[in-house]
Amino acid sequence: HHPDRSTVWVGAAGRQVPIGPDSFTFMAGPCAVETPEQTLAAAQMAKGAGATILRGGAYKPRTSPYAFQGLGVRGLEILADAGRATGLPVVTEVVDARDVEVVAEHADMLQVGTRNMANFGLLQAVGEAGKPVLLKRGMTATIEEWLMAAEYIAQRGNLDVVLCERGIRTFEPATRNTLDISAVPVVQATSHLPVIVDPSHAAGRKDLVVPLSRAAIAVGADGIIVDVHPDPETALCDGPQALLGAELRELAQAVRRLPSAV
Ligand code: PEP
Repeated sequence: HHPDRSTVWVGAAGRQVPIGPDSFTFMAGPCAVETPEQTLAAAQMAKGAGATILRGGAYKPRTSPYAFQGLGVRGLEILADAGRATGLPVVTEVVDARDVEVVAEHADMLQVGTRNMANFGLLQAVGEAGKPVLLKRGMTATIEEWLMAAEYIAQRGNLDVVLCERGIRTFEPATRNTLDISAVPVVQATSHLPVIVDPSHAAGRKDLVVPLSRAAIAVGADGIIVDVHPDPETALCDGPQALLGAELRELAQAVRRLPSAV
């Protein structure tokens, strides 16, 4: 029913940012919202490097229940403040259907993470929230299962879904997950939805963020989403994959040098 590739618009009317075939969308921000100062600093780094959407987690789905789980509603408020201060729309993860309403009150785009890609109740709830959705690929999901997860959202009337390839679990331990770069053109051949790449969560290492971002552009991804932190060594979540401000600016320059990144 959708012969042309779709563009999803994120943010308040008049300041909307496109994600789709006519642009390359650069999203950045802290993995987790920790403090107002850390979040604002990361947002300013993102803005300074040319990012147009701010990411940040207030609800963190951690492998260990003893790891930092995020600040919850307070984190949403801090992220929204940083978004207002920098003029960037914000995307943040929701991990529980009961939180969809409050997350939608504070965020411009709702993220469903890899661990919840097949949480069908959550997918249906975000499908009814009236905000665009960033749907990450489950780390053990096939492309078909990922596209069907998107259908759960669409079935509730929300076609504003952006897919995000963030690596899958393979036998290779050199990176945290294996970025399935072929998923980008495969999805684009099958679906009208925009597809972006998260090199930070795929690799788990910041030295791979630039090469994987270049790979994303080379295969025709519609954008990237990248972690940045003012002091990665003290980060409460995923510090080893977070770029510093100067590194993020270098990434932006490397990305801009590629012809397809308009
Ligand atoms: C994230 O983007 O904060 C995150 C936890 O990503 P993923 O669900 O891909 O692990």
